Amino acid sequence: MSQKIRAIKGMEDLFATKPVQVWQSIEAQARSLFERAGFQEIRTPIVEETALFERGVGETTEIVEKEMYTFKDRNDKSLSLRPEGTASVVRAFIEHFTDHQIQEGRFYYMGPMFRYENPQKGRYRQFHQIGVECFGQDHPGLDAEIIFLLDQLLRSLHLNQFELKINSLGSSECRQNYLSALKEYFTEHRSQLAEEDLQRLERNPLRILDSKEPQSQEVIGQAPDLSDYLSSENQSHFLAVQNFLKNLGVPFQVDSRMVRGLDYYEKTVFEFISTDLGAQSAIAGGGRYNRLVKSLGGPVVPAIGFALGMERLVSLLSADRLNLKSLTKIFFAALDEESEKYFSALLPQTRQLSAVTQVDWGSSSLKSKMKRAARWGAEWVVLSGESEQQKGVLILRDMKASTQEEIAREQLLDVLKRISE
Ligand code: AMP
Repeated sequence: MSQKIRAIKGMEDLFATKPVQVWQSIEAQARSLFERAGFQEIRTPIVEETALFERGVGETTEIVEKEMYTFKDRNDKSLSLRPEGTASVVRAFIEHFTDHQIQEGRFYYMGPMFRYENPQKGRYRQFHQIGVECFGQDHPGLDAEIIFLLDQLLRSLHLNQFELKINSLGSSECRQNYLSALKEYFTEHRSQLAEEDLQRLERNPLRILDSKEPQSQEVIGQAPDLSDYLSSENQSHFLAVQNFLKNLGVPFQVDSRMVRGLDYYEKTVFEFISTDLGAQSAIAGGGRYNRLVKSLGGPVVPAIGFALGMERLVSLLSADRLNLKSLTKIFFAALDEESEKYFSALLPQTRQLSAVTQVDWGSSSLKSKMKRAARWGAEWVVLSGESEQQKGVLILRDMKASTQEEIAREQLLDVLKRISE
């Protein structure tokens, strides 16, 4: 026997753990909500030049240093599977929009991202994000609007057990001052840091604040606070964001230790956390990135965005809260060839119905056809065999009530329309 080929470690078949309709209903809800807020979908390639992520995400981030799927194409060019969505959207924005003097845009995307991480619950090598990117304004009201959009999406999916954490990273100047203070502090306390964090100290001390190393936690707890390094302009921006959020009725907590894992953020950053997720508790995160468009070769255009992890969200949603349609509502079961032809000829009309319908092809017993109907979750079965053929009737069986009635062929379409609603 030849060996079975299996899916790659950390990459999942999405229907395997939850019905695919759960994914579809999240996507549909997101599209509807985002489009009502003036966002349009953007679809960028999954593969980009490696340099885009090095410059966009940051060369000293874990993602770029350790997690990218990078390879050479046949022309020796270094390409990478996208590890996140923002860099590609910014590249596309610069390429297609800024040339035409349009320095504004509201985009959303959904699709797979790739990071070579250690797979575990809630952490995969191929995972899916839904994200938005909003270009053109640097106003605290917009920061709150974007956070509100995400909050609304989660609530519209009946998710209640989550918390919103926000912080301000200040501008690059505030961050530079903070970084020096942080470096000085951690260098003074280097003997208490874990090995991993000593390396972070050399490359990017901000990353130590994200560290999960138990040995480093005490030193991290006493580290200088970013909020003390914000300029007064950044402080008032952050206060205004908080006031706008209060205005919108969005509950939040300020977490001055939250720095997020990507280099491009500044000013407002945020994360939605669920305590029901275990170790990988972040459902979504985002923030402002006012310098990224310029640093990728575009004009100065402020921007803000977020990305939501679909796998984590899907794992939190219970299928029965989402009002999913059954796989098949009306099942046509033919017990002889003539009836099969009759149902086949009806297909153009039955496909016009709003309900999901399915014909059971092939000769098998009534019993096995009814079993199949039940397996597909059919609510109604339309049966026809030789005697029904001769009489010009059909049997309509109500699967829930376990009752059935005879109906004339001429009535069938009217009856189907009625039960489809
Ligand atoms: P990030 O792009 O790292 O800010 O991540 C945004 C969101 O994507 C996170 O809050 C997670 O919900 C999700 N996410 C990030 N990495 C993974 C992963 N390896 N597997 C599953 N979900 C992920």
